Amino acid sequence: MPESCPRTVEISAYLDHEQSAAERAQLQSHLAVCPQCGAMFAGLRGLRDELRELPDETLGFDLSEVIRGRLAATARPRPAPPPRRRWFQFVPMGLGAGAALSLGLFMGMGLMAGSAGVVAPRVAALAVFDPVAPGSLCVGSDACFARPAARPGVAR
Ligand SMILES: [Zn+2]
Repeated sequence: MPESCPRTVEISAYLDHEQSAAERAQLQSHLAVCPQCGAMFAGLRGLRDELRELPDETLGFDLSEVIRGRLAATARPRPAPPPRRRWFQFVPMGLGAGAALSLGLFMGMGLMAGSAGVVAPRVAALAVFDPVAPGSLCVGSDACFARPAARPGVAR
């Protein structure tokens, strides 16, 4: 099928008289010269004619009523909405939330209070770097343990 050939939808629209007169004339001239599109048109027309020859079948009853009856038979009643809560029904939740918050604060304060004891030794260990020794007794380790006689350059 060349690229200039119409699509199957356009040929079907031509068959169903759904195009304008100009489009119909253009397609009709193409169908007259293109064997592939002519075969497609003949196939579609044959299918349409066969579909028209099918007998009209009727059920003999209203199917919608049958379906509606089956739906009604299987439908469950809607559950009743939950009863609305009163304000005093929230009291236990409020008490629980308050207790949990209080416990959290108590435990957090306990951790903070315990951390002062943990931090203090670290600070004491760093006291060796202070210019003044802890307790202000010694200037340095040399001053406490050095003997003045052993040090020749130091005057008494
Ligand atoms: Zn064609």
